[in-house]
Amino acid sequence: MSLSTPHSNDPLDKIISAALSDVHASAEGLYTQALIMVNDDVTFNQENSYQTAVKTASSGGEALYSLTSKSQDAHPRPHDISEDEARLSSHDSEVAALQDAYDWITGQAITLKEVHKVHVLVVGNIGPCDACKKRLELFFNDIVQTFEGKVTVIVDSVYDTPESNKQAKRHNVASVYGYAKATGHTTSAGKQYWRFRQEFRP
Ligand SMILES: [Zn+2]
Repeated sequence: MSLSTPHSNDPLDKIISAALSDVHASAEGLYTQALIMVNDDVTFNQENSYQTAVKTASSGGEALYSLTSKSQDAHPRPHDISEDEARLSSHDSEVAALQDAYDWITGQAITLKEVHKVHVLVVGNIGPCDACKKRLELFFNDIVQTFEGKVTVIVDSVYDTPESNKQAKRHNVASVYGYAKATGHTTSAGKQYWRFRQEFRP
């Protein structure tokens, strides 16, 4: 993993720093906030860009990405995620954040004129577990398909735990938190974080 040099004029620097502070504001557990920017809009006025609340575990209302829901719209559990892992992670904060982000994109962003880029930051205090990595992949594919492969879609997983690729057990199910292929970044204010990017260009 290599550290990039800071870009002092990167408008995302402040946004990422603020979101990382937000997800660290509470003491215990994993927190996630998703930020969506259409055509690089960073006003977060809910018209061209949107930020979800900071989601905690068990935020609720998250059928689409739980990987355990029997609902017709929900994603079925992928074969490489065990039943136990899907169940234990089905209320993770990412599940609610991705659902909220998906709802805004398919409700609001899709109605905007001349969309050429949708950029989503999924910011957490800890990197995603293996099941949530799969959820982020499904979400990314959903957004590419929502715009029928006609717009650039970027989904960044962003977190700042020192161990960017940490193994932990939950009820005897081992999972790795964070991506082995994450890249290290530093904001102009010196805030260090890890990022894993999924990117689609038409
Ligand atoms: Zn998870």
